[in-house]
Amino acid sequence: MAILDDLEGSLLAEKRSIEPEEARQLVDLPATELPRLLNLAHEVRRRWWGEGVELESLISAKTGGCQEDCAFCSQSMHYDAPAQRHAFLPLDEVLAAARATEASGASAFCIVVAVRGPDGRLMDQVLRAVDAIHAETSLDVDCSLGILTRPQAEALRDAGIHHYNHNLETSRSFFPEIVTTHTWEERAETCRLVTSMGIKLCSGGILGMGETWEQRLELAFELRELGPDEIPLNFLNPRPGTPMGDRPVVEARDALRAIAAFRLALPRTILRYAGGREITLGDLGTREGLLGGINAVIVGNYLTTLGRPADADLALLDDLKMPVKALSATI
Ligand code: SF4
Repeated sequence: MAILDDLEGSLLAEKRSIEPEEARQLVDLPATELPRLLNLAHEVRRRWWGEGVELESLISAKTGGCQEDCAFCSQSMHYDAPAQRHAFLPLDEVLAAARATEASGASAFCIVVAVRGPDGRLMDQVLRAVDAIHAETSLDVDCSLGILTRPQAEALRDAGIHHYNHNLETSRSFFPEIVTTHTWEERAETCRLVTSMGIKLCSGGILGMGETWEQRLELAFELRELGPDEIPLNFLNPRPGTPMGDRPVVEARDALRAIAAFRLALPRTILRYAGGREITLGDLGTREGLLGGINAVIVGNYLTTLGRPADADLALLDDLKMPVKALSATI
């Protein structure tokens, strides 16, 4: 295929990323070319990042009852989805999860709360937890607290958080189809705010919500404009009771194409497996993604669904001879 011949010759030699038109051609390649595409994405990942894979674990510190109406989310109070609901967890529970994360070999721990944005009380609880985890572990502490004000972002920066996670969720053009209680621009604004403060940004999205391929690539290039250090790639795990409950899961082949396209569009950004990989890719596809551009993994459980046991991921990385390590920021 001409596009692959061209990119195999130029991407590594020139250390460049692909442009939107090239991405379009890549996702249109026939299935027979998928192994070659994944191989190219893997070579690019190795060139920029080597073989290391970063592990992160997260805790849903405040779950359910969210006022927003994100159509994929079982934590929204707008839907009748069976999900846990609890206020901010006691500090000793958060600390116990952080200690278990450190023991698993992961280097980062993310505190996630289900809100549009934190109020003063929640900020105090989060900041106390960040201090305690810093005092008791050597983990990098990340936070995902929704839309922030400037003083809140300053407080998180002063607390020394490593990354702020705030996903765009999907492309700007598709966003109004899945959320009406806030805008894509509000999300992008928080992303810009945290980067302007010198906090590293972790921002990605969810594939499989009914967006077109064009919109998947739109998301990739919108993220490139925001310049995150890390992109978590989720594949929709349709939650019963949400408007997405009946959607089919993304086909493994399409998930792998998307992984390769994101890697080649953002070669210097950590690309992390996040939610949904188990049902979309299974064990075999998980391995193929790690050999097709992925270089970081969320281990353990997700916010409202179970992931693979951390041991299974560690065994797979061992088998692939990919060492677990903390990766530096975008290079
Ligand atoms: S994705 Fe976040 S903001 Fe949206 S409903 Fe779920 S918890 Fe709330």
